[in-house]
Amino acid sequence: MSGDDRKLDGAARAAEIRDEVAAQVAELARQGVVPRLDAILVGDDPASEVYVASKARTLATLGMLSETHRLPENTPQAALEDLVDRLNADSDVDGILVQLPLPGNLNTSAILHGVDPAKDVDGFHPENVGLLLNGHPRLVPCTPAGIMEMLRREGVEIKGRRAVVVGRSDIVGKPMAVLLLHAHATVTICHSRTRDLAAVTREAEILVAAAGVRSLIGPEHVAEGTVVVDVGMHRVTDRETVERLYPGNEKKMAAFEKRGSVLAGDVDYTRVAPIAGKITPVPGGVGPLTIAMVAANTVAAAQQRRDL
Ligand code: NAD
Repeated sequence: MSGDDRKLDGAARAAEIRDEVAAQVAELARQGVVPRLDAILVGDDPASEVYVASKARTLATLGMLSETHRLPENTPQAALEDLVDRLNADSDVDGILVQLPLPGNLNTSAILHGVDPAKDVDGFHPENVGLLLNGHPRLVPCTPAGIMEMLRREGVEIKGRRAVVVGRSDIVGKPMAVLLLHAHATVTICHSRTRDLAAVTREAEILVAAAGVRSLIGPEHVAEGTVVVDVGMHRVTDRETVERLYPGNEKKMAAFEKRGSVLAGDVDYTRVAPIAGKITPVPGGVGPLTIAMVAANTVAAAQQRRDL
């Protein structure tokens, strides 16, 4: 099998999702509704800046409105809660997205719990978490929702298969495991205290890596034919590491020369791809799906709020 046959093309599937969202936006526009997402960005974390800008750009391209509220690093909890309250009360706002991580002085769960669940496009509010857990999902966290969409569109069989999720965060690992479970996989969740990670991940027919540790998953973690989904996103800025991760890969080196960095995942792509049945690249895998699902969830929130 060639490298391209193995590729799980998250970027292409994300483009399909965006096209479908654009059609829904056009339909809503005929009914006089333009969905609007308000993002809150606290502090000046460069990665968060990039994510928020990318989400706003995507929404604009799809004909939706978006507003970014920028607050300084030292914003007090009460000021952030006030802003969330105002957006909750503003009937023009369909979706509210609090970009994470928040600075350490802020209580993240208190903020997320304050977002109106009907506008919670990230699906982090306990009401939405509960609905997902008991099988009546309303707004589902964007990264795992995007991965499920990709697997479905790529024709990956889930029912009855062994799935292993590496990472148990509220944002990715836990909702990912629940979605796979609801799709009838037999699911194992691994985390930082898991003993002999490789022994567990080698059992996987579907392996989702969301540990936030670059190149954690190597060939010793993957059985022949496994479907590998790489959620990790790490900016690599030193040449030696790029050469080690992608030996002889001229495209990667050219990208590094151009930008001074490349993105790498939690999976050692060069060494795992020849074993995997299918695998997502980084970049061009899970990232674009996440952003497409922010757009999809904003439309869903706009429809649900109006009973459309
Ligand atoms: P997190 O730090 O909140 O959670 C990481 C999880 O991995 C934890 O549950 C921890 O127990 C587990 N873990 C850490 N080290 C481990 C190890 N050595 N072995 C096994 N498990 C280990 O991270 P997160 O928010 O879930 O994000 C995970 C990664 O995904 C990050 O690299 C993040 O940048 C990326 N991410 C990408 C997207 C996207 O759109 N592509 C979206 C969200 C997050």
